[in-house]
Amino acid sequence: MSQQPSHIVIGAGISGLSAAHYAARSGQDVRVLEADAREGGCMHTHAFPELGGYWVEAGSHSCFNSYGNLLGIMEQLGILGRATAKAKQSYKLWREGEHKSILSALHPVELVRSLPKLFGADKTGASVREYYGKGLGEKNYRDLFGPAFRSVICQPPDEFPAEALFRKKPRRKDVLRSFTMPEGLSEIPQRIARTPGVTLTTNAIATAIERDGEGFAVTCADGTRHRADWLTLAVPPDVAATLLTDNAAEAAAIIAGIGMAEINTQLLVLDKADLGVDALAGFISVDGAFLSAVSRDFLEHPQLRGFAFHFPGDALDEQARIEAACRALNASPERVRAAAFVRNRLPALRKGHFDQIAALDRALAGGRVGITGNWFLGVSIEDCVTRSRSEHERRFGALTETLEEAPAAAA
Ligand SMILES: Cc1cc2nc3c(=O)[nH]c(=O)nc-3n(C[C@H](O)[C@H](O)[C@H](O)COP(=O)(O)OP(=O)(O)OC[C@H]3O[C@@H](n4cnc5c(N)ncnc54)[C@H](O)[C@@H]3O)c2cc1C
Repeated sequence: MSQQPSHIVIGAGISGLSAAHYAARSGQDVRVLEADAREGGCMHTHAFPELGGYWVEAGSHSCFNSYGNLLGIMEQLGILGRATAKAKQSYKLWREGEHKSILSALHPVELVRSLPKLFGADKTGASVREYYGKGLGEKNYRDLFGPAFRSVICQPPDEFPAEALFRKKPRRKDVLRSFTMPEGLSEIPQRIARTPGVTLTTNAIATAIERDGEGFAVTCADGTRHRADWLTLAVPPDVAATLLTDNAAEAAAIIAGIGMAEINTQLLVLDKADLGVDALAGFISVDGAFLSAVSRDFLEHPQLRGFAFHFPGDALDEQARIEAACRALNASPERVRAAAFVRNRLPALRKGHFDQIAALDRALAGGRVGITGNWFLGVSIEDCVTRSRSEHERRFGALTETLEEAPAAAA
């Protein structure tokens, strides 16, 4: 690889790495600058060396056979065969300090009356509350679906755009419906970062971007400068707005108002014998201190069980987080074998978001800057990869592989 790359990508989450992968596949030398000490962003499998490498997902935990662009990349890298089935488990509700079944919160009569409205309704421009409150019934939304949506996006769902919550995607019937990887989902970003033509620089916090002839110069917090003809931003919207202020003022102004949800994730590992709750997928919290919890029970371990409890912002200190989690697990905080803390961030999208994105895309048209992330189509991993692909194709032309070439069937 040449000293000077042809393309710089800022951010090594799945958005930035998929953008780098597509660029490298097109023959470009790509340098990825990542602020953190590791790649992956929200795809973050935390391993506990003191427990023989037992791991828990601190961020995303599931990929699906509807993630066509991600599956395409995995296929190209030869890792699709490592996709590992997740054991099927159910979520439990956590309400008024007790475990409840999902069905206990359902209002079936209201659901049957409301559902015809859901089938006829258009999501365009509607908030989650407007769309699902009408289509599932207000009581169902209040008692079950609102909390469930809050669990999915780790933030209050009411004002979130309904279009960004779930998007129907074609499924590949030759791939497991829902999967993880033998060493956790971090395997995927780690493998993409080793794509020939991609060089990853960690601990590189981009602080400024300047125009440099036809290209760009990126300065990092440690004073290093990187130059390339092409630039892709794959960072949260608040970071992108700051970086673009002096060189793409119109784009920066459009995205400046997009908010972020701060999520404090508490990881816990306990011995199986010390837990008072059967194997489960996780908790949907209706009124607890945490927003949601996801278990590692989908991949059986002979002795250990692990959990990620997601809390809003900085509301609780570590001891309070562990106590709140242990209450839901019917476990004693003294019996916790290992714990770790991770900060996650997700975009807090609002109604009207897609008008902002349309304006941003008009501002970017014809230029060499691409912007990708989990704030364009939706927050899922596939939404990120799909945006990366479309930003690649806008600037460099269509990629040869298409979703239609894969054995796909409508979901
Ligand atoms: C708790 C949780 C559970 C989830 N579960 C699922 C799931 O099961 N399935 C699913 O499909 N999706 C899931 N998601 C969503 C999905 O994981 C994320 O939306 C996606 O991984 C985001 O990728 P990204 O690259 O856009 O952003 P990020 O992963 O946030 O990556 C952005 C990167 O940019 C870096 N960066 C920031 N500023 C700078 C700077 N100045 N210079 C250089 N680098 C910088 C950051 O360090 C980070 O590595 C989950 C998310 C969370 C938080």
